[in-house]
Amino acid sequence: MSSWLPIPFRVVILGGGLSGLAAAHTVLKHAQVPTQVTVIESQNRFGGWLESTRFNDGTVFEHGPRSGRSYGNVALDALSLLSDIGIDDKFIGVPKSNDAASRRYIYYNGQILELPRGLALAKKWGPLPKSLLGLMIREPFVKKSDLDDMSVHEFFRRRFNCEEIADYLADPLCHGIFGWDSKQLSLRSCFPMLFDYEKNYGSVVKGALLSKGNKPPISSLSNKAKEQQWMAWSVKGGMQTLPELWSQHLIEKGLQCHLNTECKKLKVEFTTDSRKFHIETNNGTFEADHVISTLSAPVLLDMIEDQTLRHLLQDIRYTNMAVMTLQYSGEKIPHSGFGYLVPSKEKLDILGVTFDSHIFPEHALENSSTVTVMAGGPRFHELFGEKADENTATEIAVRSVRDTLNFKSEPIKNVTKMHRHCIPQYHVGHYKTAENIQNYLLEQNLPLSIMGNMWGGPGVNDVIVNARNNTMTWLTNNHLC
Ligand SMILES: Cc1cc2nc3c(=O)[nH]c(=O)nc-3n(C[C@H](O)[C@H](O)[C@H](O)COP(=O)(O)OP(=O)(O)OC[C@H]3O[C@@H](n4cnc5c(N)ncnc54)[C@H](O)[C@@H]3O)c2cc1C
Repeated sequence: MSSWLPIPFRVVILGGGLSGLAAAHTVLKHAQVPTQVTVIESQNRFGGWLESTRFNDGTVFEHGPRSGRSYGNVALDALSLLSDIGIDDKFIGVPKSNDAASRRYIYYNGQILELPRGLALAKKWGPLPKSLLGLMIREPFVKKSDLDDMSVHEFFRRRFNCEEIADYLADPLCHGIFGWDSKQLSLRSCFPMLFDYEKNYGSVVKGALLSKGNKPPISSLSNKAKEQQWMAWSVKGGMQTLPELWSQHLIEKGLQCHLNTECKKLKVEFTTDSRKFHIETNNGTFEADHVISTLSAPVLLDMIEDQTLRHLLQDIRYTNMAVMTLQYSGEKIPHSGFGYLVPSKEKLDILGVTFDSHIFPEHALENSSTVTVMAGGPRFHELFGEKADENTATEIAVRSVRDTLNFKSEPIKNVTKMHRHCIPQYHVGHYKTAENIQNYLLEQNLPLSIMGNMWGGPGVNDVIVNARNNTMTWLTNNHLC
């Protein structure tokens, strides 16, 4: 243990989104020395991008994530951690048997086209020159690349020897997850599993069949998700219920919270036997022996003095998105499923539409349809101007729904949110920026850990698992657990 270790050890976490709560959870659960854990959050609520509007009639609109994935190791790992909160009964799962989980669409040539699955994989599909199965059978014979990173688009085009698979499968997928085009996004950072499959097995198909991955820990919630074959999860009352209940649980375990407290400056003080941060906020100055930041890069760089770190953080870019949720009475979504995504080639004004009332009917009214339209990304300023005009966004959403889903009436409820700097863009070479930042923090011996969705994946499961893992590493390296 370091000689300067003060007791209690004061950890201040900046940001009360999922990353901040997962970091606080981990310190409170695993620290073996007396520790004081404080979360500083600028808003009047926890959850960050998890924001749900609950209407009196029972309808719930999501303005950020509407669900988390429930299959795969990272998802099961996150669900295991979330079991600790003791709110398993609040989770809602969408099983594989449900159309909302298994049917997905893209917009192609004026139509909503279902993605092939099952026997349809063997048939020629929409924009592809051959069947998807035919392309997959040839993929293992394509030579592997030695490049240390490449665009998502280039990877799909090369591995499947097919431009259309990159344009009509990879690109809309990127729109759905990152709100950006596949030609600029990094394969290594956005889809690390596919990068590893090529590196370790020479093929995506072989990697998918042969790799085992790390076994996640098991809990009552992850077991339930596995047994009931959940593909996606949400929480009763909307995604925002999760941070509300999680923060209550952590407060009972001793977490100190300061809502409506905006961190403005971080000043580090080194003495011969100690190092600490002074955190200046609109509610006074806090002191910390270690700071965990879960803030976005532009917010963090504004509050630090270190020019090198500021410069490195500038390399991390973010997208802006307009998120419009619309409820219609008496209209029926003509396709059963999760929603549709729009490839860049199709030149629509939107990135995609989710069929919310199909995915979570618990949050919808009978005889009504709720959909969410996402737009912006690379075209945010072109579409909505510098002032991010909400009315234009709503008009685009209503028009898109009328044109693509044939809804005749006007929405009975609608909420539009203009989200700035909401999803990080892992551009080609992003992994080097992430490494440089982490190495710099170590070299300078700064009492600062940077977490959040800046690297390691933006999904709700990713940020929970990464914050837990990074916090565990920090606790271990500093002999705190
Ligand atoms: C529109 C949208 C849709 C999405 N859809 C999905 C989805 O369907 N599935 C999925 O898995 N993921 C989805 N995501 C991604 C996921 O929601 C986020 O990556 C994740 O919630 C990020 O959590 P975080 O805690 O790292 O960051 P944040 O949620 O950004 O938390 C950071 C916190 O810091 C606070 N803060 C900011 N500045 C300060 C300051 N100066 N002082 C103190 N506090 C401050 C903020 O208020 C916030 O609460 C979506 C994201 C968006 C924006």
